[in-house]
Amino acid sequence: MTFKDLGIIEPILRALEAEGYAHPTPIQEQSIPILLRRKDLLGCAQTGTGKTAAFAIPILQHLFLNRNRNKGRRKIQALVVTPTRELAIQIGEGFSTYGKFTGIRNTVIYGGVKQGQQTDALSRGVDVLVATPGRLLDLIDQGYITLKDVKFSVLDEADHMLDMGFIHDIRKVIQKLPAERQSLFFSATMPPAIMDLSRKILGNPEKVTIQPEQATAEKVEQAVYFVSKRGKIKLLIHLLKKKPVSSALIFSRTKHGADKIVKMLRRADIQAEAIHGNKSQGARQRALGNFKSGRSSILVATDIAARGIDVEEISHVINYDLPNVSETYIHRIGRTGRAQASGIAWSFCNEEEKAYLRDIQKLINQRIPVIADHPYLDYEIDEPVQVKAKPTTKPRKPYQQSRSGNAGGGGGTKKRRQYYPRQRG
Ligand code: AMP
Repeated sequence: MTFKDLGIIEPILRALEAEGYAHPTPIQEQSIPILLRRKDLLGCAQTGTGKTAAFAIPILQHLFLNRNRNKGRRKIQALVVTPTRELAIQIGEGFSTYGKFTGIRNTVIYGGVKQGQQTDALSRGVDVLVATPGRLLDLIDQGYITLKDVKFSVLDEADHMLDMGFIHDIRKVIQKLPAERQSLFFSATMPPAIMDLSRKILGNPEKVTIQPEQATAEKVEQAVYFVSKRGKIKLLIHLLKKKPVSSALIFSRTKHGADKIVKMLRRADIQAEAIHGNKSQGARQRALGNFKSGRSSILVATDIAARGIDVEEISHVINYDLPNVSETYIHRIGRTGRAQASGIAWSFCNEEEKAYLRDIQKLINQRIPVIADHPYLDYEIDEPVQVKAKPTTKPRKPYQQSRSGNAGGGGGTKKRRQYYPRQRG
């Protein structure tokens, strides 16, 4: 099967060829014909499957073929709503890449930055708008955007929209769309709340499902390391130093945890950067840019910040913490093994996370091989992580930790106890 067989027009074929896309991915093969027939689509697929091209190509084709009917000032005819700015930027890049010989113009809007450049681009006129929900509604309210000419609407990563609390914003956006339009709805998972939402948006859609297992788990070489919470950082440093890891995306459950991992890696002379919601937009884009260009090879991220990170050739995904939602595991390991590439995913699992591991294995219907041969297998739970102390001439002050309760036999009153870092060597 080729893109030509799917009926894709020449200017888009030329762009796909320039990108080196020889064959459509399964989601493209299944969705493109439906979308070219102007049917609504409910797509159960995650990022990493080639989903962006699956919707961008047919939209570009429709807009290109009808370009003469829409002479005059450009109007927003296609709207893509997606949960994060990183995803929005990637989707915008997809439209620019696949549409570079069509003359169809897109712009991307998202929050967390000044709106000037975005409103300037909108005033120049665009055919395709890619947006995160908050900024979209904001610019609609300010009168910079009207959705009355939209003929194609895409709701991307609907399950994440819900997780991130965007449901009310989405409802408001839907109300502003013309009834006569082609609607596309994508979600990696389809819990009842998502099915409900899809029914409000779509009219008798065709369905396409790309099984997560099909998409990722089969292509990714997975392994699990049993290791205590405190042994994790040592194991990570050990693996990064001993194994051929050309680029790694490391997942931490918390923002604070991500910063801590970066700090510890740097102390072990391993350069790494963190990306998470507490970082400024500039810092996030910079860290992502460095990682994409290969200037930095290790990125530590939280799930939300890493959503949709589209970096080809991530050799390793490392689950420093196992996710408590099994689907997240699939999202994570899908960051490696993209499109035609294969990848490696390592998971660190401590005692408390064993239940998560069981759920994940059930979901992917696979037993993840255990690597028992590593030096931190029996690493003592209470062993403190050794931190290289900064040289100092002053004696170290003991640090204090407040404890409530009767740990010191204080008869229930709050007591302060002093703790001294254990001296080593
Ligand atoms: P997406 O799911 O849209 O984020 O796409 C995942 C990755 O696959 C991106 O890096 C795309 O550039 C790439 N890709 C999409 N479609 C194809 C294709 N037909 N052939 C090769 N690579 C593709």
